[in-house]
Amino acid sequence: MTHEGGCFCGKLRYRAEGRPLRVMHCHCTICRRVTGAPVVTWITFPTKGLSWPKGEPARLKSTASATRYFCAGCGTHLVFVIDGAEELDVTVASLDHPEAAKPEHHIFVTTRVPWLQLSDGLPEYVDWGPDL
Ligand SMILES: [Zn+2]
Ligand SMILES: [Zn+2]
Repeated sequence: MTHEGGCFCGKLRYRAEGRPLRVMHCHCTICRRVTGAPVVTWITFPTKGLSWPKGEPARLKSTASATRYFCAGCGTHLVFVIDGAEELDVTVASLDHPEAAKPEHHIFVTTRVPWLQLSDGLPEYVDWGPDL
């Protein structure tokens, strides 16, 4: 299974091989700040399956143990990874076919902006969610 996507300006293209492990909406304050959006939807892939057919992403250490990849040209936020982890998260909105990645749950809901109404019926977690 292959998923492809890229940034707004086209300088970066990525390819993620392997079965996605999960898809979730994150309401944490760090995702909010680094993207400028109230919630960020992520799809999780095996780290070893990610490659960059075009360009090399810029990196931001967002915490002591996590790194985020983005485009230095247009600012599109693409990847979150806990340093050394065997899986990483890719922004669903940067996929060529975001409609194919259906969210399964919400995480870090205690910091959700209160005016954002959730009526999708998906499970909500106060932390990283199931399996983590
Ligand atoms: Zn770009
Ligand atoms: Zn987050």
